[in-house]
Amino acid sequence: MRIRQSLGVLLGLVAVLVVAESAVSLLSPAVDPATGGAELSRFFTAAQLARADGYRDPGRWIAIAALMVNFALLGAVVAGRPRRLRFELAIAIRRPILGGALVGAALFASLVLALTPFSLLAHQRAANAAIATDSLGGWARDRSIALALQALGGGIAGAILVVLQRRFGERWWIGATVATVAFATLITWVQPVLITPLFGNEARLGDPRARQAVLELADRADVAVDDVFVLDASRRSRTLNAYVSGIGASRRVVLYDNLVEGLDRRELRAVVAHELGHVKGNDLWRGIAYIALVAPFGLAFLARALRPLLAGRRLAPGTAAAVAPSLAAILALAGCVEITSNRLSRAVEARADQVALELTGDPAGLVRVQVALARRNLSDLDPPGWYQALFATHPSPIERIDAAISSDPKAAASEAGPSG
Ligand SMILES: [Zn+2]
Repeated sequence: MRIRQSLGVLLGLVAVLVVAESAVSLLSPAVDPATGGAELSRFFTAAQLARADGYRDPGRWIAIAALMVNFALLGAVVAGRPRRLRFELAIAIRRPILGGALVGAALFASLVLALTPFSLLAHQRAANAAIATDSLGGWARDRSIALALQALGGGIAGAILVVLQRRFGERWWIGATVATVAFATLITWVQPVLITPLFGNEARLGDPRARQAVLELADRADVAVDDVFVLDASRRSRTLNAYVSGIGASRRVVLYDNLVEGLDRRELRAVVAHELGHVKGNDLWRGIAYIALVAPFGLAFLARALRPLLAGRRLAPGTAAAVAPSLAAILALAGCVEITSNRLSRAVEARADQVALELTGDPAGLVRVQVALARRNLSDLDPPGWYQALFATHPSPIERIDAAISSDPKAAASEAGPSG
């Protein structure tokens, strides 16, 4: 009986992953294949390549170790003995919704705490490599904000789960799907307004030439942009980035201050055009559509798989005590599914590069910015294929350079060799 049950869970999991893969294929934009045949040695010196490898090789293993700790903790909560965890406080018995919120907050906060040593290690390594520029105190402050936000999110999720299981019984997954999609949409919407300001300050861009360049590109892309802002990212890191936030008339382009100071006009245009490419490709909506397609299958599967598990431990659905294994199972499944969504992310990023090339008509500018970015961030220049396929959210630097060269080999050919 137990073997049959486990087999059923395994088959269900495979089915959910097949659905997720299909959703990725359905939502991935078409991207022209790159045929430039670019080689790393043309753009980076042996010393630069060695330095990037020295930084990124251990970095990958640290990331994998953190992921394993994350899954081990979730697995322990799903399979563990609730008597030993004893989340069920007196208050939780009498007030299940409040109890669910407390359990959810405790679970999410524990995950952040368990992964904090990895975050600290990554920060120290980035600081040693002169990529991160903030102090240990700055890191601790950011980490505390992240902890508070996660606890808040976990609290909301726990309370909602109790309400749904009480209200809809076995069909709680339908309500949970609606809640998940609504939450993803809400976060996408409020992130730039409510969450980004917690981690940095945006100010209107003073430099009139950079401002003009951005607005001109937006005009060419036919994307309504209200204003251009600069984020004081240099307090934290030397990373070069930009993003487009807001909707409708309040849409704004935000540039990292590193970008305004560190890049010339062509490079700046290449970065901004990429971000406008995301707007033109409706990429935020693609992300939400992906969640809307996968969530019902994933949650329906979990609702079924959790039933015998909770019954075996005499945990009634809709109680605070049932929230811990239920939420942990949802997080673990989301973690597995996320791996499939990375393929969608890479396709979306490659497509944004392509739109950027159409907008700027300057493949050499894009190549230059990729080279500058990779040198500055000590980017993972040569990740193993399996790592790139499972975890990368962007095409690798050389893939992006290759795509730019493929689009117009002559124009890109003028580009710099390894220097600086
Ligand atoms: Zn992008």
